Amino acid sequence: MAHLGAESGLEYEQAKVRAIIGTIIITFLIVSSPRNSWMGFVFTLYLIISTIFLAHIHFRPARSKARILLGQIVDASAISSILYFGGEHAAIGYSLYLWMIIGNGCRFGIPYLLSSTIMCVIHFGFISLTVSYWQEQGNMLLAPWLAIFMVPFYLFKLLKRLEDTTTRLENLSRYDELTGLYNRRAFNEQANLEYERLQRTDKPFSLILLDIDHFKRINDTHGHLVGDLVLKFVAEIIKDSCRDEDFISRYGGEEFIILAPGQAQIEDVSLAERIRKQVEAMPIDIGDQTIYVTVSLGTASWDSDFASMDSWIQAADSALYKAKDEGRNRVLSYQHPGEL
Ligand code: GH3
Ligand code: MG
Ligand code: MG
Repeated sequence: MAHLGAESGLEYEQAKVRAIIGTIIITFLIVSSPRNSWMGFVFTLYLIISTIFLAHIHFRPARSKARILLGQIVDASAISSILYFGGEHAAIGYSLYLWMIIGNGCRFGIPYLLSSTIMCVIHFGFISLTVSYWQEQGNMLLAPWLAIFMVPFYLFKLLKRLEDTTTRLENLSRYDELTGLYNRRAFNEQANLEYERLQRTDKPFSLILLDIDHFKRINDTHGHLVGDLVLKFVAEIIKDSCRDEDFISRYGGEEFIILAPGQAQIEDVSLAERIRKQVEAMPIDIGDQTIYVTVSLGTASWDSDFASMDSWIQAADSALYKAKDEGRNRVLSYQHPGEL
């Protein structure tokens, strides 16, 4: 099962352990239930459903919403039937509800915490109204009910905080701190996604690579902090010039890359040219003086001949290299072999 992800692999292992423990409990209940009662039938039914369920997880390891919900139903029903038929002896099994709530909340997240809580409330509500043992408990019933409500409440708070932290960390790992643009890592993810999409739907799409001219000189003359200011300044101009659907990222030190969907070659050159002109015309105030910077850009419009994302970037890079070679502060676009 080499295709199993770490997560679904873990789920598979858990499912196996649960099936083994479940089989032992249910087999014991089948054997110890009175002859000719329908308890034996109910337990056998759960055993069969659980076995089919495990087989499904084994042969189709991917995680699915429907399967998680079905798993919760099988779990809640199995626990409930033990409580329903077991009376006083099974009272301790009530804690299995909490185990189910905790398990689903921790493994699958807030929506499943909610669904397992609802299932437990419905099942335990039915049991406490119909089973004589639980009816006799009177005020003592308050304790299980409190636990069924309080445990998910605390877990919800915990999971929410965990999800918020994860989102914050994900953002940190995707954005460039200085410019606020996406970083190279985020770009690579997005680029691979777009590349896959373009393999299926061959649409116009551009890639624009931008590099600040003589940036080292700016750093050397005015210092690193001014260099940083220039980077922010250029990033702002790119943001202002692009549309919402364009994906802009800081690709390297003073290099930026733009993924622009729906741009034919003539349009990507005009977007690149607009950025170039705006940077050239904009004075940057660095305290006691004003400086001007220029940028060079290389564009490459999508062509199905590009054998990989790398070769597409390479094409834009070769156009950028040419722009530098021809004197900087200009836009050049990659010429596909057929266009030469
Ligand atoms: P060219 O016109 O050929 O692109 O020349 P260049 O000087 O812009 O290019 P080069 O690659 O020689 O220098 C890039 C410089 O960018 C070198 C590096 O110190 C600087 N740099 C990279 N990242 C940062 C940063 O985050 N802040 C600052 N201030 N400088 C940076
Ligand atoms: Mg560079
Ligand atoms: Mg440069």
